Amino acid sequence: MKNWSNTYEYRAPEIVAPTSIDELRRIVAGAKRARPLGSKHSFNGIADTTGTLIDMTGLPCEVDIDLGARTATVSGGTKYGVVAAALDDAGYALHNMGSLPHISVAGAVATGTHGSGVANGNLSSAVRGVELVGPDGELRRVTADDPELAGSVVALGALGPAVRVTLAIEPRYLIRQDVYRRMPWETLLGSFREVAASAYSVSVFTGWVADEVEQLWVKRRVDSADANVDDTYFGAQRDPDERAELVPGIAENLTRRGAAVPWLHGLPHFRLDTPPSAGDEIQTEYFVAIDDAQAALTAVRELGDRIAPHLVVTELRTMAADALWLSPASGRDSLAIHFTWANHPDEVFALLPAIEAALAPFAPRPHWGKLNRVDPAGFAAAYPHLADQRELVTRYDPEGKFRNEYLDRVLGLGASAGLPEVSAPMGH
Ligand SMILES: Cc1cc2nc3c(=O)[nH]c(=O)nc-3n(C[C@H](O)[C@H](O)[C@H](O)COP(=O)(O)OP(=O)(O)OC[C@H]3O[C@@H](n4cnc5c(N)ncnc54)[C@H](O)[C@@H]3O)c2cc1C
Repeated sequence: MKNWSNTYEYRAPEIVAPTSIDELRRIVAGAKRARPLGSKHSFNGIADTTGTLIDMTGLPCEVDIDLGARTATVSGGTKYGVVAAALDDAGYALHNMGSLPHISVAGAVATGTHGSGVANGNLSSAVRGVELVGPDGELRRVTADDPELAGSVVALGALGPAVRVTLAIEPRYLIRQDVYRRMPWETLLGSFREVAASAYSVSVFTGWVADEVEQLWVKRRVDSADANVDDTYFGAQRDPDERAELVPGIAENLTRRGAAVPWLHGLPHFRLDTPPSAGDEIQTEYFVAIDDAQAALTAVRELGDRIAPHLVVTELRTMAADALWLSPASGRDSLAIHFTWANHPDEVFALLPAIEAALAPFAPRPHWGKLNRVDPAGFAAAYPHLADQRELVTRYDPEGKFRNEYLDRVLGLGASAGLPEVSAPMGH
């Protein structure tokens, strides 16, 4: 079995898909090694195991809204898009969404998945509680007042399968999305925070080599369907074409532009009823402090000629700091520098150390679910709470049932499972 983009092949000898929580608990209790698997949208071996891979997407879908607490408790394997539709029907919303609604809730929050907006935390920051199956098969609930919640949300699957996740909700709202084209790099570099902060969610798309960044997707929270927006944004011009493409030939799967729509149809870039992105791709992403945006982007731009031949597109997004130990935005307002690569595994694998070296002065944090070559010392330098997470993982899973080589690398634990370099794309 391969991941969504067919660029990583799971090596687990056994894959199971429980349909009830009791069945899941029995599987976990009886397995020597096991890992939860969500919707398979990660690009590395983070979910892999030498034992039993547990597909969480077949468990019953639940969305229970608690109006008093302003939360919704949802089944971990359910897609964000399904949760969002149920919330919207009930008059509620999430504060943000990732670029695609196809990902499972627990798989997304386990890796710190994010949307954009300087005042918006990532999706994990909305988690108010989580219910996990421990290595003994027993259920364990971690609530908002438990200090261990900080290590139990972006947990990389290391604390066992999350069967339920409790999310903060708010009243439903409208989003208007507009595409602006051609902002000079100088403007972006000179005013990065202002550009990013002047709308609810801003995504900047670039190929690195032109003098101008090619597109900005500006998502505003609006009060009414007839809200007007400016035709310029820091010098970039609004594109009146509602179906403006990002990548040539791919427009049908994008969410609507130029009109106010319910939040769940405007925050993601991709529609739930079509395949997202281009497929046949590899993704990489690094998070740095937003205060380092100018220097970090300048450093990566110097590699533009080496990046461009393998790049589909880069997206720059922002997020507010949070207090989750392994969140890529832990303790710092962040800029995320993302690369969607063509399926050139050898070239990308060889290029990543150059990008990581360029970003090294800024203690870059790689996206947990995307291809990276950061070593244990790099993770330790980037995550002040790594030792706390290691202690939590080894206390709750002393036998290492949920560990794999990727976890051992990032948490600085000893070799566990005899898997090959699980962060590498296929062929390595
Ligand atoms: C087209 C595309 C667009 C993307 N856009 C974004 C984006 O906008 N922002 C962003 O930040 N990322 C983005 N990603 C990356 C993606 O959000 C993450 O890789 C995310 O982890 C995928 O969720 P998943 O359910 O597929 O998890 P999987 O890839 O299946 O698993 C990822 C991790 O979560 C763990 N896990 C899965 N289910 C559970 C569970 N029930 N309990 C506990 N742990 C679990 C696994 O063990 C593994 O460690 C994108 C990926 C693709 C393919």
